Amino acid sequence: MSFYNIINGERRSSSNVHQCTDPRTEEPLWDAPLATQEDLDEAVAAARAAQPEWAKTTVAHRQSLLKKLGERLEEHRQELVDCLMRETGKSALIAGIDVTNSIGQCDYYAKNALKDEITFEDDTLTIVATHQPLGVVAAICPWNFPIILSNIKVVSALVTGNAIILKPSPLAPYAVLKSIEFTHDLFPPGILQVLNGGAELGVSITSHPGVDKISFTGSSATGRRVHESCAKSGKKVTLEMSGNDPGIVCEDVDIKQVASLIATGSLFNGGQMCVCTKRIYVHESIYDEFLKELVDVVEAGFVINKDPTAPTVFGPLSNRMQFEIASAMLEDCKSKGFNIVSGGDIPNDGGYWITPTIISKPDEQSMIVQKEQFGPLVPVMSWSDEDDVIARANASDSGLGAAVYSSDPVRAQRLARRIESGTVFINMAEIPHVGGYFSGRKSSGYGGEMGMQGLLSYCHTQSLQIRKSAT
Ligand code: NAD
Repeated sequence: MSFYNIINGERRSSSNVHQCTDPRTEEPLWDAPLATQEDLDEAVAAARAAQPEWAKTTVAHRQSLLKKLGERLEEHRQELVDCLMRETGKSALIAGIDVTNSIGQCDYYAKNALKDEITFEDDTLTIVATHQPLGVVAAICPWNFPIILSNIKVVSALVTGNAIILKPSPLAPYAVLKSIEFTHDLFPPGILQVLNGGAELGVSITSHPGVDKISFTGSSATGRRVHESCAKSGKKVTLEMSGNDPGIVCEDVDIKQVASLIATGSLFNGGQMCVCTKRIYVHESIYDEFLKELVDVVEAGFVINKDPTAPTVFGPLSNRMQFEIASAMLEDCKSKGFNIVSGGDIPNDGGYWITPTIISKPDEQSMIVQKEQFGPLVPVMSWSDEDDVIARANASDSGLGAAVYSSDPVRAQRLARRIESGTVFINMAEIPHVGGYFSGRKSSGYGGEMGMQGLLSYCHTQSLQIRKSAT
């Protein structure tokens, strides 16, 4: 298969290429083109030339194109799923979810867009808030859900009248490159472009004088560098970064049902989701029973299955870097003598696999509780006092997502509202929905995306202050 950067409406090869590795087989994949500084300059110039006319089109026109964008993704579903499976190790089921939810994003913004709003009115004055595009947006994306996490930036930027240049992760560029190859011609040349590359290209993008805004999704460490670079060049920036989401389980829950939801919330995509539940707090009065049920659920439904077509939401670590990070965390748990009640194996017989691992009551200051594991390692602690568990849930510099489970809806909301995170999922596994504003607090983010509020981060809100009497 051949892959191209897309610049000014054209497919571009590069003499400079790299290959990713299939995490199930460790076989090298296809050549992916690496963009040069000249490619970036050309893409930025094309975006700047095309964006003013694009901004003059109506919202309704842009929404009709988003609908077509979703239809194109559907037409090419199988090619996209195939790329995703090979580059990330996702099962066909999860790769399909990546495509389906991206189409859902197109459909959502094809139906929902920002409108002008009267923010003040009296006998003499009307104030109207109107939302203008920022110009050229560049999106810097991670590898864990390649299409969903890039497409949300594409649809948000396009519906608000911006041009967008995407940079996928060099660890999983194939499906994103193909998704833009399949769809860019719906838009004027220069409006939807993609450039593959690594940190060096990322730095060039964040410091480029022709880029007005960066939308970044990735780790907090990189996000801070992006923030610094944007500050220097005076760019707007949105940062979606790492999480270490707590899940609180109250004593009044249906244990069987909630153990299953927690297993899904923690081990979905092998734990490689920004809002996977990464540390579980279970009320001590049900701790033993809950832990046993969780182990049963995990050992029955979240096992290593090397057949990628098996209907499972579990899979390997997506690349060697993440495999090594998660392996080191597991080794740390073992060396400290923590109580591993399920899993704990690294088969090392081909592919980046770690058995789903449940660790009972590790030291709360340890790496597995304090750091984002981004892998199939689930620490389970106990609690007995609401104030105490909230303090422990909030004792983190991350604040992305959280989950609360209780059969008492008033209690669940009371707890949720005290958690310092951008989104709290109540009585459900942490699966974000495009209709909800998604943002991280503390070191998990700066600004946010999705929902109607997310569109504001792609706009400048201009106030029209209109005197009523004739001049
Ligand atoms: P990463 O920070 O290593 O890379 C993200 C992107 O930044 C890549 O495209 C990379 O090439 C680029 N990059 C690297 N250095 C750069 C620099 N100096 N300047 C500009 N760009 C640079 O993250 P990752 O490993 O790809 O993704 C995993 C992380 O992303 C996890 O921490 C996860 O929690 C987080 N994540 C967050 C969300 C969210 O919505 N908050 C969603 C998914 C993943």
